Amino acid sequence: MINQERIKNLLLELVQIDSHSRKERNVAERIKKYCEEMGAEVEIDDAGSKVGGNSGNVIARFRGTIPDAEPIMMSAHMDTVVPGEGVKPIIDGDIIRTDGTTVLGGDDKSGCAVILETIRCLKEQNIPHTDIEAVFSICEEVGLLGAKHLDVSKIRSRYGIVFDSDDPGFLFTRGPSSNHLEIKVHGLESHAGVAPEDGISAIRIAAEAISAMKLGRIDEETTANIGVIHGGAATNIIPNLVTLWGEARSLNEEKLEAQCDHMVQCFKDAASRYEVTVEGKTTKASVEASVDRDYSSMDVPDSSRVVQLVLGAAARMGLNVQTMASGGGCDANIFNRKGIECANLGTGMRAIHTVNEWLDVKDMYASAEMTLEILKLNGEIALNKG
Ligand SMILES: [Zn+2]
Repeated sequence: MINQERIKNLLLELVQIDSHSRKERNVAERIKKYCEEMGAEVEIDDAGSKVGGNSGNVIARFRGTIPDAEPIMMSAHMDTVVPGEGVKPIIDGDIIRTDGTTVLGGDDKSGCAVILETIRCLKEQNIPHTDIEAVFSICEEVGLLGAKHLDVSKIRSRYGIVFDSDDPGFLFTRGPSSNHLEIKVHGLESHAGVAPEDGISAIRIAAEAISAMKLGRIDEETTANIGVIHGGAATNIIPNLVTLWGEARSLNEEKLEAQCDHMVQCFKDAASRYEVTVEGKTTKASVEASVDRDYSSMDVPDSSRVVQLVLGAAARMGLNVQTMASGGGCDANIFNRKGIECANLGTGMRAIHTVNEWLDVKDMYASAEMTLEILKLNGEIALNKG
C-alpha cells in the first residue's frame, strides 16, 4: 500500500514550488534531494543550457534488488504552463484546486509525486525490484524540449512509463504527429480613404483563405487549427501583411500531410485572386508558408512489453485499464522515437492548462497503487527470468 498522506503532502509541496518552463531549477533541486535521500545517484543533465533554461532534466538512478535485471524508466515533467507561479492550493475534501488565479500544476507534479512515492514504498516494504531510472524532464509544455534534448545513451532502460495524463483508468499508447504552420500573406499598402483601389488587403485574403479551410476535427484521426492571427497597422491603411500560426495533428502521416497542404493551398488560392496595377506597375498578392514538425506520432502495440506489464498489474488488482489514443503529444512521443518504448498512464489531473485545474487525490492514490503493482510485477517477471 502507498502512504496516502505522504503523497498528498508531497504533491502540495511540489505545486507550491514555482516551475514555469525554463525555470524548473527549484523543483529540480527538491526532487534531486528527495531521490538522494532514497539512495539514488542523481544527475541534472545539460538540457537546460541548450534550451535557455535554468535547469536540466533530473535523472535519478535507483539500484534494484534483483541482480542482472533490466532497468525500467519512469518519467514525469517538472515544468508547468502559465500562469503557474505562487500557486495557493485549496483542499476541499478529496479535491485539490487553486484560488483561480493560477493553474494547479497537477500537470505534471502529480506524475512526479506518483513516481517518488512508489519508489519510496518499494524501499520501505523491501519489495524486490529492478533498477529504476526516473527521468524528471524540463520544458515539456513548450515543445517536449527536455525529452528532445535528453541524451538517451545515459538511459539503459528500453521500456518505461510516462505519468502525464488524466484518468488512471486509461493507458495512452497512441498519439498523433503534429506540425505547426506559419503563414505570411503579403498584400499591398495604400490609403484606405484616398486610394483603396491601389491596395491589396492581406486581411481580406487571410479571411477568404480561412473561410474556405477545413478546420477543427477533420476526421477521427486528424485535427487542425489556426490559433493566432496578427496583422494590420491602422484603420486608414490597407494592410499589406498578415501573419498566421496554426497547427495540424494526425495519427496518420498521409492525412497530416494532406491537411497541411490543404491549409497552405487555401491561402495560395485566395492570394491568386488579387493583383493591382498602379502607375504601370503590377503587384500580385503572395503567400509565404512554412510547415514544421513539432513531434512525431507514437503507436505502442497492445502486445508490447510495457502495455502487457501495465495491463497485467491492473488485472491482478481487479482493475480494468484500457489502452487509448490521445489527441495530444507528450514526452512519450519523443522517448518512443528514441528507442524507449513508453506508454502514458493517468494520475488524476483535470482541466489542465486552465486556472480551473483540479485533481481528485483518490485518482492519484489509485495511480500510485497501480504503479506500485506494476513495479512489483516487473520485479517478479525479472526474477522468474533470472
Ligand atoms: Zn503534462
